[in-house]
Amino acid sequence: MSIIEQMQQELQELKESSNLRTLPNLIHEGQDVIANGQRMLNLSSNDYLGLATDRTLREEFLKELTADSFLPTSSSSRLLTGNFTIYEKLEQTLAELFGTETALVFNSGYHANAGILPAVSDAQTLILADKLVHASLIDGIRLSTAKYIRYRHNDLKQLERLLAENHAAYRQVIIVTESIFSMDGDIADLKELVRLKHMYENVLLYVDEAHAFGARGEQGLGCAEEARCIREIDFLVGTFGKAAASAGAYIVCRRTIREYLVNRMRTLIFTTALPPVNIAWTLFVVRRLAGFRERRIHLKNISNILRKALKEKGYTCPSDSYIVPMIVGKSSDTILKAEELQRHGFYALPVRPPTVPEGTSRIRFSLTAEIREEEIRELIKIII
Ligand SMILES: *Cc1c(COP(=O)(O)O)cnc(C)c1O
Repeated sequence: MSIIEQMQQELQELKESSNLRTLPNLIHEGQDVIANGQRMLNLSSNDYLGLATDRTLREEFLKELTADSFLPTSSSSRLLTGNFTIYEKLEQTLAELFGTETALVFNSGYHANAGILPAVSDAQTLILADKLVHASLIDGIRLSTAKYIRYRHNDLKQLERLLAENHAAYRQVIIVTESIFSMDGDIADLKELVRLKHMYENVLLYVDEAHAFGARGEQGLGCAEEARCIREIDFLVGTFGKAAASAGAYIVCRRTIREYLVNRMRTLIFTTALPPVNIAWTLFVVRRLAGFRERRIHLKNISNILRKALKEKGYTCPSDSYIVPMIVGKSSDTILKAEELQRHGFYALPVRPPTVPEGTSRIRFSLTAEIREEEIRELIKIII
């Protein structure tokens, strides 16, 4: 069989098991999406604060722009000529907000996670990663020369045992977790992770706040702000593509780590920096994050309502956030349920293996602050 025939066969198998993916045909209109000619409320967006659909905010930003500041390309890596002052401004602002020594900005969360771990680890490093960390972190681990073990999801007892058994055999151990997990919407116990890290001298902690930055914490800085442990986390990473309604990612960390990454991180060094105009927009949003408190409170409120209703209807719902999975089980059943919701005007998407473990296919609701409580109540009425 030729390689192309092999591909065709695999695609056919994916189709038969209801796991074939295609790029959806979408038109966006404010909070709504139009798919296959049908207008639906978007319940699958990562725009947690509703900033991406906020036209007023964009208008305000555009007022500040001129032909001189609208720079659509950096034309180069930051290590060459791509380091515009707006980058440094954003990093300074982040460091001030977080109260850390420094910050460093990347082109995306994927670049950050795929690049940091390979840069800072070697063959004498052990990485202990939560079983459910994002694919970008897995790729970072794979690209590194470190040994790694994945501990059961949020099982910090197991992590504690693994640390005790292994820490002495390695130069350094790096614990890797997300704060809010993408698929279950549950949250890692950051305080306990910090406690475990402090048990041994050679342990560092890496936390990905992709889903939390902007939407959690009094100032919108994430779960580490809530848990008051920002400076205890050695690699505190977040993205701008979700609640911050932009693109890119950051790490806040001590000076040495930043300097080291600038010298060693391939996904920072060998890529053209994001357009300065994009960085300007990120800075514009980041400066306003603390002011979006009302939106965070509303988001929390509607998320509580949906989670409670799902539990009352008999669904297991591990979530403790605005990512609210409705775990159905079989992929084919999940697709039918998603289609039913879509017929009623709710754009909710099925998530299937390999994104989630076999037998846990689910509808993944991802709520945003623009969604009204009445809309959530309508949704609850049609869920069976
Ligand atoms: C979305 C996401 C990323 C990737 O961030 P991008 O900026 O979209 O590349 C990384 N980690 C987690 C946990 C995410 O959810």
